[in-house]
Amino acid sequence: MKTHLSHQLPWDSLVKNYYRNYSEGLIFPICECKKMHIIKKSDEIKAGNRKYIKEEQICRDPSCKEIGEDVFYKNKNKIKWEMDTIDVEYSYYHKTYRTKMNIAHFVKEHSKAVNNFADDYLNKLKKIRTDKKFKLDAKYNKENIDNYLTQKTKEYNDCGSDSDYEYIYALTSSGDDNDIIFLLNEIDKYKKDNTKGLCLVNVVTEWGTQCFGRYANYIMDSMNRFYLTVNAIIASGNFNNRETWEKTGLRGGICVYGDFHSFVPNWIDEHFYKDKLENFNKDYNNELNINFFDCIKTEKLYDLLKKIFRYNYIWLALYKYADEKKLREYFRSIFLRIVDFGYIDDDFNEKDNVDFELTASSSSFC
Ligand SMILES: [Zn+2]
Repeated sequence: MKTHLSHQLPWDSLVKNYYRNYSEGLIFPICECKKMHIIKKSDEIKAGNRKYIKEEQICRDPSCKEIGEDVFYKNKNKIKWEMDTIDVEYSYYHKTYRTKMNIAHFVKEHSKAVNNFADDYLNKLKKIRTDKKFKLDAKYNKENIDNYLTQKTKEYNDCGSDSDYEYIYALTSSGDDNDIIFLLNEIDKYKKDNTKGLCLVNVVTEWGTQCFGRYANYIMDSMNRFYLTVNAIIASGNFNNRETWEKTGLRGGICVYGDFHSFVPNWIDEHFYKDKLENFNKDYNNELNINFFDCIKTEKLYDLLKKIFRYNYIWLALYKYADEKKLREYFRSIFLRIVDFGYIDDDFNEKDNVDFELTASSSSFC
C-alpha cells in the first residue's frame, strides 16, 4: 500500500508527530546530512552523557546547514506510532516547536499541491468550454435539468438529507467533468444576475443541526480526517498493524446518519463494507470487537484517497472560479478544519508561520 501523492506530499513530516516516546529521547538540531548537528557546547555535553549516541550519528561541521530538530531515542523498540486523533497533536498542549515546523512543512506542500491541481483542473475545463465544437449534453438543458439533478442526487444518497444543496454535493463528487462545467455555467449566471444561477456562498454557509454545523465544513472535515489519518498510517509503515487502526480517532467518524452525512454516501457503499461499518459505529463499547480496518475495502482504498483529494481541488476550483468576495471569509474554514492548510497564503512561509493557529475550529466540532 502506498501513500497518495507520495512524490509530492511530505507524509513523513506528518507521521513524525505521532511517535509516542516510551523511551528516553533527546532533542538535537539536525543538519542537511540528516545527522544530529553538534556545534554548541551544551549539546556536546548532552550527547556525551549518553552512551547510546554513536559518533557516526553526529555531524560537527559548522558549515553544514541546520534544517530543524529531531528526537533521538535510547531504545527504539519502545517507540510506538500512535495516531489517536489528528486534533490532539495540533492542540496547543502538544505544539512543540518541532511539531509546528513539521506540520507547517506538510501544510505548505499540501496547500501547494491542492492549489496546483485546482488551477490545472480549472484551466482544463475552461479550455473544453471554449472549444466551438463543445456542447453540454441535452440532459443539462433547461427542460431536462431538474430530472437529471433528481437522478444524480438519488444516486448520490438514496437516504436523502436536509441540505437544500444535495445536488451540489452529488455533482462535485460524481467524477464527471461535464457536471462541473454545468456548475461553472451556473456560477456565470449568478455573476450576471444574482437572482439566478449558483451562489456558492449560500452553499457553504448552509447550517445543519448543532452537531453538523455548516454542512460543507462538516463533510470536508471528516473526509480530510480520513484522508490524512489513513495516509499517515500507511506512511508510518503500520498499515497492517491492527493495534494502530484500533487507536485511530476514526471511530464513528464515517456514517450517514442524521440530517447530513460525514462522507460522500455512495463512496461508503463502494469503498466500505457497509454492514460492518454500521455495526462498528453502533458498537460504542467495542463488544463486537470490530476493527475499523475490517470495514475498509482495502483493494479500493487508494482509489478512495484519490477521490477525496480530487473532491478538495474541485471545491477549490469552484471557489476560485466564483471569486466571490464573501467567499473569502468562509474560504479558510471549509478546508481548514483539521490543520490550517493555508490555501490563501500562497507565500506561506514555514518560519514565519510557526505560531499559526493550527487548530482551526475544534470548538465547532462536536
Ligand atoms: Zn551535517
